[in-house]
Order: sequence, then C-alpha cells, then structure tokens
Amino acid sequence: MKILVLNSGSSSIKFQLFNANTNESLVGGIIEQIGERDSHAKIKFKDKEGKNCELEKNTAIANHKFGLEIMNALLIESKIIKDLCELDGIGHRVVHGGEKFSEPTIINEKVIEQIEKLIPLAPLHNPANLDGIKSSIEHCPNVPQVAVFDTAFHSSIPKHAYMYALPYDTYKKDGVRRYGFHGTSHHFIAKEAAKYLGIDANKLNAITLHLGNGASMSAVKNGKSIDTSMGLTPLEGLIMGTRCGDIDPAIIFYLSRVEGLNIDELDNMLNKQSGLKGICGNNDMREIGEMAKKGEQRAKLALEMFNYRIKKYIGSYSAVLGRVDCLIFTGGIGENDTEVRKESCSNLENLGISLDINKNNQRAKEILEVNTKDSKVKVLVIPTNEELEIALQVKSLIS
Ligand code: ADP
Repeated sequence: MKILVLNSGSSSIKFQLFNANTNESLVGGIIEQIGERDSHAKIKFKDKEGKNCELEKNTAIANHKFGLEIMNALLIESKIIKDLCELDGIGHRVVHGGEKFSEPTIINEKVIEQIEKLIPLAPLHNPANLDGIKSSIEHCPNVPQVAVFDTAFHSSIPKHAYMYALPYDTYKKDGVRRYGFHGTSHHFIAKEAAKYLGIDANKLNAITLHLGNGASMSAVKNGKSIDTSMGLTPLEGLIMGTRCGDIDPAIIFYLSRVEGLNIDELDNMLNKQSGLKGICGNNDMREIGEMAKKGEQRAKLALEMFNYRIKKYIGSYSAVLGRVDCLIFTGGIGENDTEVRKESCSNLENLGISLDINKNNQRAKEILEVNTKDSKVKVLVIPTNEELEIALQVKSLIS
C-alpha cells in the first residue's frame, strides 16, 4: 500500500511517500519558493541497489498545482511510481481543525468548506493547506484524500482545561479556546513510548515535549491529551525560536500605550521578534549554545529562560497527571540538545525524575532512555515522525 503525505505551506510543499505495509519511506522531497522565480523541486530516495539518489528540477513553479505536476514527473523519473494516480491514498497535514475535526477525515466538498470556515483561526496555514488539497484532488480525483489535523489529538482536552476565563461569549460566538498544535507529533511519540515501555497505549501517562522552532508540551493521560501548552494559536506556552510563549496579556495594552504600537506591530513582535531571538538576537539553538559557551550573557539568559519555562510546565503537568510513566523529548532541540534536556530536568528528583548525565550525553537517532536506573519516571528521547504518523492514520481510515 503506497501512501503519499503532503505538508503544503504558502510557498512550499514537503512530501514523503511511504510503503504503508512496512512503514518504510520510499522517497521524500520538497518543492520550494513556489510562486517565485527561483523555485525548485528535489527528491531523495534509494534506488534498487540501495544507493542514495537525488533528483532535482529548477524551474519557475507558479502555484501548488504545477508543483504537484513537477513532483509527479520527478517521482516517475525515479521509477518509484508510474503515476501519482496509482497511489492508495494521499494524506494532507492540516494545521487547524477547530472543534469540528477530532479524527482524520476523508476529504470531500463539504470538508473543504469546513476547513475554509476555519481560516480565521489559522490565517497563514489553512489556506496553504487547502491549496495543496485542491491541487492534489484535481491531479488525482480517484485517489482517497485524507485530512489529518494538527489540533485533532488535543480534542480530548476537558473543558475546564481548554476554556479561557474570558466572557463566555468569546468561546460561544468566536471560538476562543485552547486548541493546541503539534498533535500528530505528541500522539506519535506517546504511542512509540508505550510500545518501548511495554505499556498499553491507552494506559500510558506521559509528559510530551516537542521542542523545535515552535515548541509545545502536552499532558497525556491514558493515551489521550488532557492539556497542552499552545492555545488558540501556537503563540502560547513555552519560549520558542521567535515566539514569546506565556506573557502577561496586559503587556500588549501597556506597549500599545507607551510605544504607540498597533495590533499588527504587536502581532509581529510577539510572533517573530520575541522568544530566544528577542532575548539574544538568534533563534537557532545550536548557535545560541555556541554563543553561550563563548560567554555571551544574553545567550546564557535565553537558555536559562527556555529551560526554566519547560521545568515549570513539567511541574504543572506532573500535578495534573498524578502518575507519570515517562517524559518524552522530541523535535530538533529535544532530540539533539543534551544541555536543554539536562537543565530542564535538573533537580526534579522530588517528582521522580532523575536524568543519567552520561546516557543523556548523546543525540537521538533512535529511542534513547536517559533516566537513571532508580528514576521513577522514565525519560525518553524519541525522534518524531509526523509524516509516518499521518500515513498510518490515512492507512487505518482507508482500509
Ligand atoms: P521546526 O519546528 O522548524 O520543525 P526543528 O524540529 O527542525 O524545527 O528544530 C529546529 C531547532 O532545533 C533549531 O533551534 C536548531 O538549532 C535545533 N537543533 C537542530 N539540531 C541541533 C543540535 N544538534 N543541537 C542543538 N540544537 C539543534
């Protein structure tokens, strides 16, 4: 069974094709700078002899539809498929499913309309996801197309945890509530952890940490998300590359008054000029680590703030969960940054969390267990694979 996974952004499409019987990735690639002059497409795969191969095309790609045509041409050239239309299913990452979508959903006209209605909640992402969906349906009308929502895993969060203490009408009329994001990743690593620990996935209690450019944490009880750090939008919660995470909302009114900033300027500041970048001028964790080693005080401060915020969430999710089987780190930072794992887990023995510094001192290519022998809570590092999780969800829906 061959399943293609598409992650369509406003000017790019990332894709991966899976043999969903073996979970093997057959080919992955990206189409970049769609709509610009320098657009290009690239795929990477192994040929029949197992040799690593790459195919590339540099050509003006005006829109997502043409992007998919180029992708199809490259896939045919790789001899991995004869045509996109022979696929068993296509899965689309969709960022916002609102309250409407709590499961992967076969896409039809009605579903497209509903995703369109959710655009105000994700004005940058849902339109781009829809471009990919519409082009893909046009290209392969007979292949089942499935939407997999970033918000879906969090649809199990109870009302007392997803409501904000604002006038109730903001929820009823405008849909203001916590939705959460990175759901596919939190779900994937929770299931992988259950497999690794030999626990029934429906009984696992875990704190999941997806730490990349965007970062979020989740409290997972009996395999279901019961709280998460991102909210109505991905701005809330942890400190991120360029996003501030939790702040006193009154800062916005204050800055508006004293600096005369308007809503768009504040939106830009909080989303693009804050977080690690706001504190030390850089949002790349590797570079910040280097800067801190050279003694740059702002880089050190940014790291301390980043780790401190994670520690606070570990504490609050431990309280919410009661029993915690494991803490799971993933994402570019979670999988690779040994200092962040060490600092954010330091002095948490009272919560049953004890990290083995030596075991922790490696990057994760596969599942790593980095806790001490007597740690009550396991600490795992699990490389995320959102694309595979989407392919698996598509497979279970269409079969
Ligand atoms: P995105 O949210 O864009 O998918 P990623 O999950 O790829 O982001 O994570 C990007 C972050 O991971 C960057 O801050 C990057 O510096 C960091 N990162 C990647 N590799 C390492 C590494 N070896 N050590 C520390 N940080 C790393």
